[in-house]
Amino acid sequence: MATSTPATTGGIWLLEDTPTGSIFTPERLNDEHRLIDQTAEEFAVKEVVANHDQLETKDWELARRLFRRSGELGLMATDVPEAYGGLELDKASSVVVGSRIGQCGSFGSSFGAQTGLTILPLVCFGTEGQKQQYLGKLVSGEWIGAYCLSESGSGSDALGAKARATRQDDGSYVLSGEKMWITNGGFADLFVVFAKVDGEHFTAFLVERSYAGVSSGKEEHKMGLHGSSTTPVILQDVRVPADNVLGEVGRGHKVAFNTLNYGRFKLAVAANGGARVAIGESARYAADRHQFGRPIASFGAIKHKLGEMVVRAFAVESMIYRTTGLLDEALADHDPTDPTLLRQTLEELAVECSILKVAGSEMIDYVLDENVQIHGGNGFVKDYPAERHYRDARVNRIFEGTNEINRLLMPGTLIRRALKGGLPLIASARSLQDEIMAPPSLPELSDDPFDDQRRAVSAFKKASVMVLGLAMQRYGEQLTDEQEVLSWAADILIDTYAADSAVTRAAQATTEAPNMAALQRDAACVYVNDATNRIEAAARSALAAMFEGDDLRMNLAALRRLLKVVPVNTVAMRRRLADAVVDRAGYMLS
Ligand SMILES: Cc1cc2nc3c(=O)[nH]c(=O)nc-3n(C[C@H](O)[C@H](O)[C@H](O)COP(=O)(O)OP(=O)(O)OC[C@H]3O[C@@H](n4cnc5c(N)ncnc54)[C@H](O)[C@@H]3O)c2cc1C
Repeated sequence: MATSTPATTGGIWLLEDTPTGSIFTPERLNDEHRLIDQTAEEFAVKEVVANHDQLETKDWELARRLFRRSGELGLMATDVPEAYGGLELDKASSVVVGSRIGQCGSFGSSFGAQTGLTILPLVCFGTEGQKQQYLGKLVSGEWIGAYCLSESGSGSDALGAKARATRQDDGSYVLSGEKMWITNGGFADLFVVFAKVDGEHFTAFLVERSYAGVSSGKEEHKMGLHGSSTTPVILQDVRVPADNVLGEVGRGHKVAFNTLNYGRFKLAVAANGGARVAIGESARYAADRHQFGRPIASFGAIKHKLGEMVVRAFAVESMIYRTTGLLDEALADHDPTDPTLLRQTLEELAVECSILKVAGSEMIDYVLDENVQIHGGNGFVKDYPAERHYRDARVNRIFEGTNEINRLLMPGTLIRRALKGGLPLIASARSLQDEIMAPPSLPELSDDPFDDQRRAVSAFKKASVMVLGLAMQRYGEQLTDEQEVLSWAADILIDTYAADSAVTRAAQATTEAPNMAALQRDAACVYVNDATNRIEAAARSALAAMFEGDDLRMNLAALRRLLKVVPVNTVAMRRRLADAVVDRAGYMLS
């Protein structure tokens, strides 16, 4: 039954080799997952995407009907224990659903606020009474939830919230304040609201719309997601029963940040689902559209784009499923009605969740930008969905913690754990210094077809450790002020986790998905090749910010020695990927 510590150590992949066979991949989804996938896809395509234009008129009755339909189909129940009306499925099921709903743009965002930002904090922090009272209604879609953390003056600095909760003699609280940019704000029935008790103790509350003093402001005029409600939520002396404190008074940051960890992970899942659909649109358009008497898909410049879209989506997808495997492994034997281990595991995987959030949101922006470009003039007008996708996705880099904040969190969290002794990063940095000083040794001969890629990934891990270790040494406690260096370190970490996951998945495909193995190999090889250049550039910039003169020259020489990666013919590989995506008229690697 429940163990008290997570079975996995977040960030450990940075310090160890990743054996073939050790990571979860989409190729390991079982028949039940595939059935759920089919249900979610049919719902997304036939009921949501088909009604998109109507939803964009802000028809919230339609939004409610879609929520109720998702409830009937069990799509919001995956993460919820059976005891509270849920299906109690593994996280892989949740990922499969999230990926399909990810193609729904506006409704995807509404769905995320319901499942990731309202249901999840209740599952993780709710009392028995709160779960009994609210989860069933939320899972069925009878009630809609919203998450009220941001305020006009506090977005990234969420703990700087001004909303106040004043404790009354009878134990209840009176809440006042105004929350901003709240998804589902216009029609939600239940709000997870963060406010400071007596102006000091940051705390989460469950606030029903029916409580006197709760109201929604006007709908925001947004760049995209026009079919999703985003409003201020105004609280004017709202009396909230003592039983509606979610978690503990003064511990609202735990509710907020744990929720955001899962939200970040799920944002990447949705981005991946959206990217797969857009890649299909690009492939079909490129096959149909003729210029100079040929389909544009036959031009090298377009093949490059199609190939690169597939490579980036494959890398993010590989990280998502690997992280899903870590979650499911850690939670395998836990008692679903005791959320302690779930909370601990989400906290443990905070770095992976931030990596996924940044990588997923930037991958989809790349894919959707190239989708517009491949559609040419048709990409810029509303007759094709490319234009809407492009606008809808931009916010992904802003909400669930901006990408800047998430970048800072990655190295910051790893270093904090290293200093507390939870991650042997300092020992690794020391042994790397010894390795760099030692005379070079000849590489062992190997018949592993991924030998070059594995060496490259190992070099990426060392480059990450080198930059993190030197930054800790150089700046000590002032490192938090060096955001540029931290952001370069984050870029290296993202490429390293992505390359490691893509190569391991492609190597596993040799036995687990032989029909896809050659294409997955191409995708992994291109990713590693280009990541080498990015990592080298980021590490050089970081070193140049930290050192000068002989110290800089010595560290640059060490970096060059580490990153000796043989380039591959990425033109041929991207062309093969592009031809395959056009032949199959859609994303083909899962
Ligand atoms: C469509 C939409 C839906 C949303 N839904 C919700 C919701 O349901 N619930 C909710 O609570 N919120 C929601 N938000 C709010 C969202 O989470 C915030 O907009 C986001 O956290 C950023 O806060 P901000 O807008 O105040 O930007 P700011 O925090 O002012 O940031 C502005 C810029 O400065 C950078 N920056 C800020 N601080 C630092 C720092 N310390 N170091 C370096 N750079 C920094 C940021 O990265 C950003 O680039 C939503 C927003 C939108 C647009």
